Amino acid sequence: MKSFSQLGLSNEIISALNECGYTTPTDIQQEAIPATLSGQDVLAAAQTGTGKTAAFMLPSIERLKGYGNSGTSPAMHPVRMLVLTPTRELSVQIDANIKSYIKNTLLRHAVIYGGVSMDTQKEILHKGCEIVVATVGRLLDHIEQKNIQLNRVEILVLDEADRMLDMGFIDDVRKIISLLPSTRQILLFSATFAPEIRKLATDFMNNPVSIETAPKNSTANNVEQHIIAIDNWRKKELLPQLIEFLNIKQAIVFCNKKITVNQVTRDLLRRKFSVDSLHGNKSQSERLATLNAFKNGDTQILVATDVAARGLDINDMPFVINYEIPLQAEDYVHRIGRTGRAGAAGVAISLLDEYEEKLFDAIVKLTRQDLKIEQLEGFIPSWYQVATTSKTLMPDNNKNKKTSNSCKPTHTRPLRKRKVETCALLLPNFGIK
Ligand code: AMP
Repeated sequence: MKSFSQLGLSNEIISALNECGYTTPTDIQQEAIPATLSGQDVLAAAQTGTGKTAAFMLPSIERLKGYGNSGTSPAMHPVRMLVLTPTRELSVQIDANIKSYIKNTLLRHAVIYGGVSMDTQKEILHKGCEIVVATVGRLLDHIEQKNIQLNRVEILVLDEADRMLDMGFIDDVRKIISLLPSTRQILLFSATFAPEIRKLATDFMNNPVSIETAPKNSTANNVEQHIIAIDNWRKKELLPQLIEFLNIKQAIVFCNKKITVNQVTRDLLRRKFSVDSLHGNKSQSERLATLNAFKNGDTQILVATDVAARGLDINDMPFVINYEIPLQAEDYVHRIGRTGRAGAAGVAISLLDEYEEKLFDAIVKLTRQDLKIEQLEGFIPSWYQVATTSKTLMPDNNKNKKTSNSCKPTHTRPLRKRKVETCALLLPNFGIK
């Protein structure tokens, strides 16, 4: 594993990366940075979330940084790099990344996309800028109006080429490539390679280097994921029952805040579970001791914030429980990656309450998984319109309890009509294949 400087990036870029919090290159960056720096065309199989923006931007900035200047004449700032994307959102996101990556250079950047007035974009383009991120249709509009010249472009990035194909932009992309100088470098990123994309590559690219890395945001296939809808106030009650009923030998229980970690730890201790906690307020030596005890199997349950989400490698850890849905969707991937390691089977259970639906939607979007929301008999949430009823296997300790409004939060949001499924944990062998 090489560092950014070993990959050939200079200090002004690396110090900008430090500010972004990037310490080590991702897999795709390891491969794409040297290939791009060498001036070769690159054909990369990569999805959003792998760090692909930096993979194509950082070496390109390295190659172009010498063009940065403080001259005011537009002629001093011809377009040297064009990044084509399928959507406005992606353009804006890439442009925001570029802004932070080039902060120690004199390069200029601009983003152009449809749905807003052409005038401001025209003004920016007329002033000149070295790096332009654009959606295909709006770029063609500016080309037609002669607001942009592409005859000095040295690097073209086709980002999410598969989505461009799906959205019907491939012919427009071909038109744009034909306007570039013949000596340009092309970097093509795509999650999949349909014949049309391969054809585009063979028609326009020069002996490209092929790169393929596993997507960062894909969850391991051997982790069985359960999202259980529940009322917020009942999580506390469900957790010990899950541990007992599922006969959980070891699990990490993730919470978003230190205060919740402490509360959950206290609750479990009170019920005589073997439990310890891990969060950022603990000293390094305490954290190490806690981790070692857990790794040795001396502790049954580790309640933790996301400090434990990354880098913790425990053999055969069968369960991860998200007591709270993580605030950052990426953390979901990291959290559940603590189980199912090295090919072992694992189960990840996430308790989803009425306040966490947006966080859940972000996870679905990021992981591009069709995660089903499930429910447990005895813990049917009040904020769901129940679509199915399941056979009771979980003991319903509340069946005879009168739940008065005083201990139940009054929740006035309308009932949601998401599709709800019977939790596979209720199936024989708890749904674990
Ligand atoms: P992308 O695949 O370009 O959408 O990047 C996904 C996320 O990873 C973004 O939030 C980036 O800021 C972040 N990222 C990219 N490269 C690195 C890195 N080397 N270290 C840490 N985070 C990174």
